[in-house]
Amino acid sequence: MPYQITVMLHTPAHSGIGGALTYESEVAYPPGTLVRVPLGSRELLGVVWDAPQMRAIATSPMVEPNSHRGADKPSPPNEAPVPMQLRAVASVLEGIAPLNAHWRQLVQFAASYYQRSTGEVALAALPSQLRDLSTEQWARRLKRKVKAVNAFEENAQTIPTPTDEQAHVLTDIAAHKGPFLLFGNTGSGKTEVYLRAAQAVLERDAQAQILVMVPEINLTPQLEERFRTRFCPQWGEDCLVAMHSSLTPAQRLKNWLAAHSGEARIVLGTRMAVFASMPHLQLIVVDEEHDPSYKQQEGARYSARDLAVYRGQLVGAKVILGSATPSLESWHHSRPASGAEPARRYMRLAMPSRVGQGALPLVRRVDMSRQPYKTVFSNHLLDAIRERITRGEQILVLLNRRGYAPVLSCNDCGWKSECPHCSAYRVFHKLDRTLRCHHCGFTQPVPRTCPSCGNLDISPLGRGTEQLEEHLAELLADVRRPDGEPIRIARIDADSTRLKGELERQLAEVHAGAVDVLVGTQMIAKGHDFRRVTLVAALNPDGALFSSDFRAPERLFSLLMQAAGRAGRDAAMTLFSPCEMWVQSFHPLHPLFEALKQHDYPAFAEQQLKEREQATLPPFSFQALVRAEARSQEAAQGFLNAAREAGAALADELLVDLYPAVPMTIQRVANIERAQMLIECTSRKALQHFLAHWQANLHAMRSAHRQVMRWAVDVDPLAI
Ligand code: ADP
Ligand code: ZN
Ligand code: ZN
Repeated sequence: MPYQITVMLHTPAHSGIGGALTYESEVAYPPGTLVRVPLGSRELLGVVWDAPQMRAIATSPMVEPNSHRGADKPSPPNEAPVPMQLRAVASVLEGIAPLNAHWRQLVQFAASYYQRSTGEVALAALPSQLRDLSTEQWARRLKRKVKAVNAFEENAQTIPTPTDEQAHVLTDIAAHKGPFLLFGNTGSGKTEVYLRAAQAVLERDAQAQILVMVPEINLTPQLEERFRTRFCPQWGEDCLVAMHSSLTPAQRLKNWLAAHSGEARIVLGTRMAVFASMPHLQLIVVDEEHDPSYKQQEGARYSARDLAVYRGQLVGAKVILGSATPSLESWHHSRPASGAEPARRYMRLAMPSRVGQGALPLVRRVDMSRQPYKTVFSNHLLDAIRERITRGEQILVLLNRRGYAPVLSCNDCGWKSECPHCSAYRVFHKLDRTLRCHHCGFTQPVPRTCPSCGNLDISPLGRGTEQLEEHLAELLADVRRPDGEPIRIARIDADSTRLKGELERQLAEVHAGAVDVLVGTQMIAKGHDFRRVTLVAALNPDGALFSSDFRAPERLFSLLMQAAGRAGRDAAMTLFSPCEMWVQSFHPLHPLFEALKQHDYPAFAEQQLKEREQATLPPFSFQALVRAEARSQEAAQGFLNAAREAGAALADELLVDLYPAVPMTIQRVANIERAQMLIECTSRKALQHFLAHWQANLHAMRSAHRQVMRWAVDVDPLAI
């Protein structure tokens, strides 16, 4: 066979093969071609990576671990190249155009930046059915390509005239290169800006494609609807496809192919969509760009937001990052369009006003230190809730916890429902009367008596959302809706929405007005356009003020602003009295709440950035974490500290700080000990340089520390 080609595969991590293998072939498949190749006794999907080479001599070819360019990781020791006969490419996936150079470069960059193998990132970015369908199944799948063109119902839609702020922002987007940080209040009409910017791109170029990313698609079904209503009448039902993890494998393949072929003009998806193959990509929107769910938390721990910015620059697509509370990183890297300040990475575009809606809610703080001991709802808040319900308005009660009274405790000896396998407490689930570990899943029936002293008096500590719902029902038992009916309280959190479709059903009930009080976790704060909500209450926000996680205040502020944005979305609902956000806190005068009261994100950001700068925390420094898992904490830390030792000289040279290994916050999960080590540097480039070289040390250490089961690097971690 005349050609030798490099193919990227997702090889098992322990194989020591970095993902690039060489095969021989009769055909000079161009880079980006999807092929099936043999590996051991299996056949795997792979992507042809480099231009095929003519084979010089047909003797002693070999597997080349990590042969691919400098960007890849150095090969681990004792997995030296194994001489073997080159095997032939088994087959090619017919009917799919090769993945283009931009896509391959995006994958290559992500792999290199996040310290993973290119093969892993490449294959993880492809729909699983490409891998799982046999050649025969694939051939059948291709024939099925003809689809029914069902006409989209053209209900007359009124497209709003842009407000002055929107018009201004759209002009800037059209005139400049970006990337843009669209700093727009909740309800300022950001989505309308995305829609108009998209419309302009679609009209300008008959092929142009648009990528719209959202944090969690299930929480914002309305967004997809708005895009469909706007674009399907003109561009057809198939102009938009979704890409997220709750699609079936078949749907995912279908949508992926539609994007890859250019047939779908708009891809709307979650973080995984950043890797969608879109050959004519011209606009990328990242909605709620500050949202932590843009960071992948396993495998290649990439930030889809950061990759979106990279991808935009790579392909020359405009990028719009939108948020009412941008991440402090994005805020720091942005400046208004005009102004004497030096040019920053992002152009900041502001939309401070709410469109055709009531004013932002009045923030009211309750000093909990002046309330009777163990108060859950202060009387003032209860009165306000009662009054609004009788007027037919809706209430959101925001609680930052999950499950029924998290921990069981013995009132005599102090026993708590610890998980025997983890350094965490098990949660009391009232529904099936179990104690359940949220980390390893270990579940047992609730004991009748204290396992430690036999005392009968064991009871829940603290309050979770389930219990709160009951408690509130008692407190409001005498309240009636305007129609004289008893009130309805609903709860939305990870537990109540575990069943498929349950979240949608519950949200629909809230929208329909069947629910008067909605109790829930941050899930209820995001994106929903609840028209009748006029009061939002945050019950226990204090934990985040004094957290060991330096990003906790940023998260809390954004959560509270988001939640506040759920109130007063319909001006007609606030004719009687302005909408309100209540915060119950033991520290009501904390600067965070002061800024919240003024709805002043810039003030909050400035204060936080000042603190971060003093402490040289991101965005004034760059971080990476190495995590290791072993049977003992000693082994996990020993491995990390040895690697630290090995990297010390290079770290010194590059001014990279290596901190000692520490146990992770959740130290033990399912009997496995976890440790981590922080790496910090004021230069991203130096940190990258260090990590790329230090990988070899980690691989080497691994063979000397056999007890270590796993280790992984997290670049730009979101929590340390
Ligand atoms: P955001 O995404 O910033 O929260 P949206 O785009 O959802 O804001 O807009 C909030 C509400 O205002 C929506 O109901 C939307 O239809 C409406 N809206 C947006 N722009 C306009 C406009 N120019 N004229 C009238 N209504 C608008
Ligand atoms: Zn006891
Ligand atoms: Zn556990």
